Amino acid sequence: MITPIVEMDGDEMTRILWKMIKDELILPFVDLKTEYYDLGLVNRDNTGDQVTIDSANAAKKYGVAVKCATITPNAKRMTEYKLHQMWKSPNGTIRSMMDGTVFRTPITIPSIHPAVKFWKKPITIARHAYGDVYKSIDIKVDEPGVAKLIFEGESGKREEQVVHTFKGPGVLQGMHNTDASIRSFAHACFKYALDLKQSIWFATKDTISKKYDGRFREIFEEVFEEYKDRFAAAGIEYFYTLIDDAVARVMRSEGGFIWACKNYDGDVMSDMVSTAFGSLAMMTSVLVSPDGKYEYEAAHGTVTRHYYKYLAGEETSTNPIATIFAWSGAFRKRGEMDSIPELMNYADQLEAACFDTLNEGIVTKDLANLMEGVTPVVKNSADFIAAIRSRLEKRLS
Ligand code: NAP
Ligand code: MG
Repeated sequence: MITPIVEMDGDEMTRILWKMIKDELILPFVDLKTEYYDLGLVNRDNTGDQVTIDSANAAKKYGVAVKCATITPNAKRMTEYKLHQMWKSPNGTIRSMMDGTVFRTPITIPSIHPAVKFWKKPITIARHAYGDVYKSIDIKVDEPGVAKLIFEGESGKREEQVVHTFKGPGVLQGMHNTDASIRSFAHACFKYALDLKQSIWFATKDTISKKYDGRFREIFEEVFEEYKDRFAAAGIEYFYTLIDDAVARVMRSEGGFIWACKNYDGDVMSDMVSTAFGSLAMMTSVLVSPDGKYEYEAAHGTVTRHYYKYLAGEETSTNPIATIFAWSGAFRKRGEMDSIPELMNYADQLEAACFDTLNEGIVTKDLANLMEGVTPVVKNSADFIAAIRSRLEKRLS
């Protein structure tokens, strides 16, 4: 390795897996260079969350990061960890500092069949994570009256429209988005499509929401001009359609593309797509900034329930696959950026060793019930990782 990967350690069961993965699957094979940040809740609390900010700055500086799942504190965690403050979600902080878009992709194997029988290849969902209903304000109306939308420009320009004249009680809502955020989203989507060499779909409801959703469509079209030639060269396309048409087409498709969604659509559709593909433990996630910086992670959380069992001395069978793929994704990208084919090959072999193991029926408990046509052999986390290691050794020897 030449440039370090930014390593963001985390919490609970995934922190335990993190160390096992490094010790068994990485350090024996790679001359590892990382810049380490401990985003475990204890250290976030001790540093006043500065460590999260530092790690995000490092990700922006070096361009590739890998992150372990972390606890987002709530009232219960405040007492459990005796926290000084209810720190914000580290993922939220990192995402806003990198101005990034999250892409979620399922890891698929032949013995786990998606609930949608047409799906043969993974579908990646890209969710625009700013604005719309998530930053909206609403009012509950309890008497007749007029609701208006008013914009007052700094120049003195004023625009006013009647939303509705209420004859009785009702509700109303105001929401927004910004050209800058939509443009960043579009750049991240087109960049990642080129990375994966997969076509990208985008859908809104611009027939109804002519100005609001129409603006999303316009900006995507505008930004796509910059990528058009590279898309043609890569043999991929940008496909725009209406959201209802997109849903119907997705269900009938065989997968193998990226589906860019507005914030709410992405929230809803990513849960549907991930459940239909099988297991949250087999879902990877990558945060891509508009200027091409990457942060890789598993889509699941810290698997608290398993951690408490682990602390009680019980055996756990937690699935490390998505976390291993976060590392392999980071190694492949680092290798590509620094032109180190050996590192890219190691990433490929690590993933292949995971597939070898799973395809032989060796699995963690969460996958056992999902598999068809093979008799699963369930292992605990350590033995499962050992099984991957022996296959990796074979592949690399
Ligand atoms: P979770 O950690 O994803 O776990 C929910 C359940 O899903 C687990 O109890 C387990 O089911 C199953 N599961 C998830 N990952 C698995 C794996 N790798 N192997 C086997 N089973 C797996 O979600 P949570 O319990 O709602 O959240 C726990 C903590 O994680 C919270 O403090 C939350 O803030 C944090 N979180 C962090 C991130 C992140 O850093 N990106 C994302 C989400 C949540 P069974 O118990 O039935 O076996
Ligand atoms: Mg959701």
